[in-house]
Amino acid sequence: MLAERDVTHITTNRGAQIFRIPLNGLEDFWVFAYLVVVEDMLVLIDTGTNYHTSNQDLIKGLTSAGELLGRPLGFADLTHIFITHGHIDHYAGLAFVAPQTRALIGVHEYDYPIIVNYHERKERVVRRLAHFLVEAGVKPARIPEILNMYMITKGLFESCRIDFTFGEVGMRVGPFEFFHVPGHSAGAVAIRLHDVIFVGDHVLSDITPHQAPESFTLNTGLTHYLESLRSFAAWAGSPSIVLGGHNAPITDLGTRISEIIQEHFTRLENILDMISEQPRTTLEISKTLFGQVAGYNILLALEEAGAHVEYLYRLGFISIENIEEVRSSSEPVRLLYRSLRNKEELGNVFKKH
Ligand SMILES: [Zn+2]
Ligand SMILES: [Zn+2]
Repeated sequence: MLAERDVTHITTNRGAQIFRIPLNGLEDFWVFAYLVVVEDMLVLIDTGTNYHTSNQDLIKGLTSAGELLGRPLGFADLTHIFITHGHIDHYAGLAFVAPQTRALIGVHEYDYPIIVNYHERKERVVRRLAHFLVEAGVKPARIPEILNMYMITKGLFESCRIDFTFGEVGMRVGPFEFFHVPGHSAGAVAIRLHDVIFVGDHVLSDITPHQAPESFTLNTGLTHYLESLRSFAAWAGSPSIVLGGHNAPITDLGTRISEIIQEHFTRLENILDMISEQPRTTLEISKTLFGQVAGYNILLALEEAGAHVEYLYRLGFISIENIEEVRSSSEPVRLLYRSLRNKEELGNVFKKH
């Protein structure tokens, strides 16, 4: 485990140097940034949380990479910064790094507004989240507390400049090739350099990457995510190593993708099982899937359950039991879901999605 906390050095099959830099982004929450030396480019992939010791860990990482290369390295030496996706643990460090460098900063266009128009987007999402929590069956008295938790984590960042989007440069910069993988985030990308792929949080070892309903943000949600996993598998082929934003590197990508798809299918089957006898809310489904959770994990579990419920609803596997109540109210009401189709039919549909 100690190695997970040290800077790790990897060389691609065509001689590019990669340094994996672990950042302690929240109390014992680790995220990786990557420093890449290739041709005349010095590239930073992701920037950490701008919180806890993330910024200091990033400086330490550059220093130890510089020692290994035999030349001092600082933010001023960077030529590019690529952001794998618009989640705060990957881009918030821009607030610290961007003012210290003239590096060109790039992100996918679908996550561009998250970074450059940060406060406006936060206000819109928090309203959709409030609506979702009512429909999920969270008691009204508890909703302000959950929304507050959401707003506090989002207080770590201010809007930041972005110099280009991956789409407008043809999904290529020098030897780097970008591939759009919407789902976990709307503008998530995988980045290929030689025989190595940087994958952000699209595919992770040990955990299935977090999913939230598309009703919060277009181009997220489980339908997009599963489509992206399949298109990504075809694009990626058999890389030597896949480097994620968290957890250990992946060496058998095909197996890991199959495991993730299977885990989502099992969750969808479990939901159909639990509502076949008795209609349930998303909150009840979340508790059955993930047990009792506390703090920010309450929101994460609800979003994850909500993404699976949304998938089933979208494909006509479940419907709303209390639709009369919905019809007679001008405000959002708690939704109770019941199943319409069975697990065998889900298996047939799931193979195509
Ligand atoms: Zn993420
Ligand atoms: Zn992450």
